[in-house]
Amino acid sequence: EGVRAALERLVRDVPDFPEPGIVFKDITPLLADHKAFSQVVEALAEMGRDESGAGVVDKVVGMEARGFILAAPVALALGAGFVPVRKAGKLPGETHAVSYALEYGEATLELHRDAVAPGERVLLVDDVLATGGTVAATRQLVEACGGVVVGVAVLMELGFLPGRETVGDLPLHALMTI
Ligand code: IMP
Repeated sequence: EGVRAALERLVRDVPDFPEPGIVFKDITPLLADHKAFSQVVEALAEMGRDESGAGVVDKVVGMEARGFILAAPVALALGAGFVPVRKAGKLPGETHAVSYALEYGEATLELHRDAVAPGERVLLVDDVLATGGTVAATRQLVEACGGVVVGVAVLMELGFLPGRETVGDLPLHALMTI
């Protein structure tokens, strides 16, 4: 079974979660399947390799919370470090913070100031690209540290939302587009 078939079989649609009218993409069945999880991690890591298969990024950044689950094994696969981007107030050290608009209200994401060194090459990994707001905010955080975002890898892109336009000029690899 290929990655795409595994995603179709093991990502579950949950209607009206977390709010009425939203169809939530639940990746927990995929994570519980060793073979599918391994395939997905390898496919996401592909973006951080050169033609010879060597890792070409210094850090893999995952966004709270499902991004952590995917980005950490991708970092290990690439021989890179893992860095968490967290919701406001969770990181203990000095942080950079970026606030961005949600459909209702606002969210703030934070990154430790010393988590990415100037000039480091960074891959962003998350489960779902929806409006792209999370990726855009994370890019700003990495750039505030002097890091360079070289790509974005996600399991799923919601093609009916403007995520791809928001991501703009960054290379974006989605294992599946809905
Ligand atoms: P965006 O900022 O609108 O692109 O939303 C992406 C963020 O929201 C990611 O961190 C996702 O984990 C989360 N997200 C949005 N929609 C879904 C979904 O249907 N399933 C799981 N996560 C979602």
